[in-house]
Amino acid sequence: MVKKQFAVIGLGRFGSSVCRELYKLGHQVLAIDSKEEKVNEMTRHSTHSAIANGTDEKALLSLGIRNFDYVVVAIGDDIQSSILCTLLLKEFGVENVWVKAQNYYHQRVLEKIGADRIVHPEQDMGIRIAQHLTSEKIVDYIELSADYSIVELIATNKVANKSLINLDIRAKYGCTILGIKRGEDINIAPTPTDHIEQGDILIVIGHKNDLKRFEEEGM
Ligand code: ADP
Repeated sequence: MVKKQFAVIGLGRFGSSVCRELYKLGHQVLAIDSKEEKVNEMTRHSTHSAIANGTDEKALLSLGIRNFDYVVVAIGDDIQSSILCTLLLKEFGVENVWVKAQNYYHQRVLEKIGADRIVHPEQDMGIRIAQHLTSEKIVDYIELSADYSIVELIATNKVANKSLINLDIRAKYGCTILGIKRGEDINIAPTPTDHIEQGDILIVIGHKNDLKRFEEEGM
């Protein structure tokens, strides 16, 4: 397998956790920040680290940033620097530039200059936490679009010991079960005759309204 090369520019809370996790997963990660102490904190959690300004064209080129498959721009409040850094990376031809946006206007500019993926970690996490808070049954939640989501729901005794064909969730609720987690095992291709046990975690995709109906009435 060809290993992907990652760089993270800006090592605040978001950038440093992206960096740590990539490194933990065994990837090559270059950690960059303009502040020495931030870089020092990350040396044990990255393959390489460098003190550099993400808006300094020469510094970025000398770090070989063009050769990275993915660059994450996690510069926090300094929106101007975040935009300039993203622009440089796209001009260098970096294929995948993921950027943390601070607000809607920042996002609009990032879209225009070609950021490949724009993330809003606080907002996204806020939505997930609200979903957890409002339902005991939801263990995780991923928003796919304004209308569609994937949720992980804990199977209650209402669905326990029943097969998928018996439950007929797709016809009744318009949702599809993508997988069933049972302890450490995960069934990623459930068949109609597979049974659900109480405490299983069901991974379900569907329209938000249908998912809500399934969670409230079907479980
Ligand atoms: P978070 O909300 O993720 O904690 P912060 O604003 O605390 O974000 O962190 C942003 C990080 O980005 C800081 O460590 C800061 O030093 C770094 N940073 C800011 N501007 C630049 C820049 N131009 N080049 C490199 N790093 C930068």
